Amino acid sequence: MFKGFTRFLQSPGEHLRSLFGPDDAAAAELAGPRIIPRNEHPVSRQHLSESALKVLYRLHNAGYEAYLVGGCIRDSFLGRMPKDFDVATDATPEQVRELFRNSRIIGRRFRIVHVRFGREVIEVTTFRGRPNDDHGDHIAQQSEQGLLLRDNVWGNIQEDAVRRDFTINALYYSIADFSIHDFANGARDIESRTLRMIGDPTTRYREDPVRMLRAIRFAAKLDFQIAPGSEAPIHEQAHLLLQIPPARLFDEILKLFMAGHGVETFRMLRHYGLFPMLFPETEEAMATLPWTEGLIEAALASTDKRIREERPVTPAFLFAALLWGPVQLRQATLEEDGMPPIPALQLASQQVLSRQLKHISIPKRFSMPMRDIWDLQQRLPLRRGKRALQTREHPRFRAAYDFLLLREEAGEVEPGLGDWWTAFQEGDEHEQMRLLEKAGANATPGDRPKRRRPRKRRRRSAPPDNP
Ligand code: ATP
Ligand code: MG
Repeated sequence: MFKGFTRFLQSPGEHLRSLFGPDDAAAAELAGPRIIPRNEHPVSRQHLSESALKVLYRLHNAGYEAYLVGGCIRDSFLGRMPKDFDVATDATPEQVRELFRNSRIIGRRFRIVHVRFGREVIEVTTFRGRPNDDHGDHIAQQSEQGLLLRDNVWGNIQEDAVRRDFTINALYYSIADFSIHDFANGARDIESRTLRMIGDPTTRYREDPVRMLRAIRFAAKLDFQIAPGSEAPIHEQAHLLLQIPPARLFDEILKLFMAGHGVETFRMLRHYGLFPMLFPETEEAMATLPWTEGLIEAALASTDKRIREERPVTPAFLFAALLWGPVQLRQATLEEDGMPPIPALQLASQQVLSRQLKHISIPKRFSMPMRDIWDLQQRLPLRRGKRALQTREHPRFRAAYDFLLLREEAGEVEPGLGDWWTAFQEGDEHEQMRLLEKAGANATPGDRPKRRRPRKRRRRSAPPDNP
């Protein structure tokens, strides 16, 4: 950790003039920021994007206030490479738009400006004020439950700070003197690795329940503890996620599971009761089919590993694992009613997907390959004649084969078929012929990998006899 910064945290006196607790938003507004001068914090221009700096300088030179805020400053503080850069300013979206030819105003719920530099996009946000104040541009809306529907009321930097989610996300880097303005004791919370909601957590989660998911995401990604006061209401308010539009949840799911900390995130979502609000049928399947949880964890672990190795990952594979349990339960029921396996899987896939879409919208470009991965699970065991060669040519073969390996690893099916396919892919023509003959001798059409355990878990104890 940067020396000056540590010193700043340790020295009492003038640096600690704002002793308000960050849970007390009103106090935070009155006390003003703590200014951390350039020589006492670790954020250096060398680690900031040139495009972001250009935006800051141009706003500054035009007479506006301009700061970097949010994840980029938080991550720089922690010595991590920032992923993207968010600028906060007192210029309105229209004024920002006028300064940058390469910009456009986006969003309705939150109007912001995107300034584009090649592939990089800098997000410029006008300071938000309090929704109930009588500002010029008065268009904040709140639902009866306290959910913020729109938030386009402009304010000053202090008001903007207390409307952000966590204290560590409310650090503002000023381009005027390279100092950091800390409105909610974010620097202290970074030092103690604490994730703390600004203001009254219950109210803030009610305003925007996605903040509960963001709490889990940051805790898992940064390895921070959620402060007790910010943690407790999550258990109680998890159900509020049901109000969030499926499209927004899809974006959040990607950020949750495709950021390299999927396993930890999944466990935390379950711990806080958030997971059943996102994937209700999967939660149910986990209670009935013991391998479901292992399959999901194995898929997340493999995704995390690929991300660390900078190999490509696809949400289709993850969704395939997340929803395979419910699909298998549904397929089993359809088969019990007399439907043959192939149509039963197709119908089960369709039904599970359409129910899931009410919670999280999965775009077709991911749901189609997901269904291919499922369909191929029925084709992988059929290896007679040309079938193995045809399956091998399927564009989704590789993902389906990886998926089969995870099913074996999770104990859903007996190992064996995965090894066969591994050998088949690696073998020369001669070896492939030998494997095909071996498979032909053992397999029958409609064959499927052997299940390891009975489909449904037995009740632990029989219900007491009624005398
Ligand atoms: P990362 O980009 O690394 O995922 P981030 O903190 O930058 O993390 P963004 O979604 O880019 O997250 O948001 C930028 C900033 O906007 C946040 O740091 C936070 O200050 C504020 N913010 C974002 N979403 C919310 C929200 N739902 N409620 C309150 N403030 C928010
Ligand atoms: Mg960001």
